[in-house]
Amino acid sequence: MIEEKKWDVIIVGGGPSGYTAALYLSRATLSVLVLAGVKAGGQLMNTTLVENFPGFKDGVMGPDLMMNMEAQAKKFGAEVRYEDVAKVELVGETKKVWVGDPSAGSGQEYSAKAVIISTGASSKMLGLGEEQWMGKGVSTCAVCDAAFFKEKMTVVVGGGDAAMEDALALAKYAREVHLIHRRDSFKASKIMQERVVTNPKIKIIWKSEVVEVRGSEKMEGIKIKNVETGLTTDMVVDGLFLAIGHFPATELFRGQVVLDEKGFLKTGITNGNAKVWLEGYPTMTSVDGVFGCGDVVDFKYKQAITAAGMGCQAALDAEKYLTGKVSSY
Ligand SMILES: Cc1cc2nc3c(=O)[nH]c(=O)nc-3n(C[C@H](O)[C@H](O)[C@H](O)COP(=O)(O)OP(=O)(O)OC[C@H]3O[C@@H](n4cnc5c(N)ncnc54)[C@H](O)[C@@H]3O)c2cc1C
Repeated sequence: MIEEKKWDVIIVGGGPSGYTAALYLSRATLSVLVLAGVKAGGQLMNTTLVENFPGFKDGVMGPDLMMNMEAQAKKFGAEVRYEDVAKVELVGETKKVWVGDPSAGSGQEYSAKAVIISTGASSKMLGLGEEQWMGKGVSTCAVCDAAFFKEKMTVVVGGGDAAMEDALALAKYAREVHLIHRRDSFKASKIMQERVVTNPKIKIIWKSEVVEVRGSEKMEGIKIKNVETGLTTDMVVDGLFLAIGHFPATELFRGQVVLDEKGFLKTGITNGNAKVWLEGYPTMTSVDGVFGCGDVVDFKYKQAITAAGMGCQAALDAEKYLTGKVSSY
């Protein structure tokens, strides 16, 4: 089925970045369709207390924050549908987006003058069933959760800059931080490695991997194995932090917009081209009229507030692209 209406902007993704973009665009009186996906609300729907989103001095529950963001965008006229996008055609003046199963003829086709991609990213997991203890001892975001582990025994898994940052963030609060890495050297930058190895709270466990995560109501401990000797050790752990990378949700767009080597969406902000800041649209992708924001672009910060901030930027760029004038936001 083809919907007759041509929207000003279709936003693919209903997390902090997508809903913020929807708020700005609908408030600027543009017609906005948010295809929020069946997991509308995004990553914060999977957490409890968010203590670092400004404006909530006692914190806010992740799902409450997201329901409020959605309601705020709807208040100004944004239409939100809880459907996963299955196919896109982004090049040209009319952008086409399908939900359902277009190949079986059962899809719904939407069209717009501009598209904002805000599909987020998901953290890589160990594959040991540890997801069941997310928010109950297992975390993928030390910046978000380190403060909950005061005087606790914690483990970070990984060997890149993100793992170094997580270990250092935890060392400010935790009693002990064990950094577990499969190899005998880190791929993190030298300066980050230096900070980690000189921090008295951080102990490095080389050439080891986590082979079991156990718990009941909450995560209680792990088993690690030395990859050289095969020897295993049980550890009683309060917090297990995974810093082994992310999967940006960009498969849908592969071949149509330029992605980086890890699959993150490239925009003017991340391709290092300063010119786009002065003359163009910093959040535009390689395709005219297609913008990107949030964790699907941001390979570094990955916070709700940075995602929301980039959603605002993408909305203002899209508005400028559509109207040829600077926003009256
Ligand atoms: C457990 C956990 C706790 C966290 N705690 C904090 C915290 O305390 N503070 C903080 O600042 N940050 C926290 N974060 C990080 C924060 O949640 C993310 O940085 C933020 O949600 C990114 O927003 P986003 O809009 O870019 O993407 P997401 O929140 O990932 O939203 C992506 C959206 O895209 C949709 N989508 C994906 N594919 C499709 C498709 N094909 N069609 C339609 N829709 C699609 C999804 O359904 C989802 O709605 C936490 C993350 C996790 C996982």
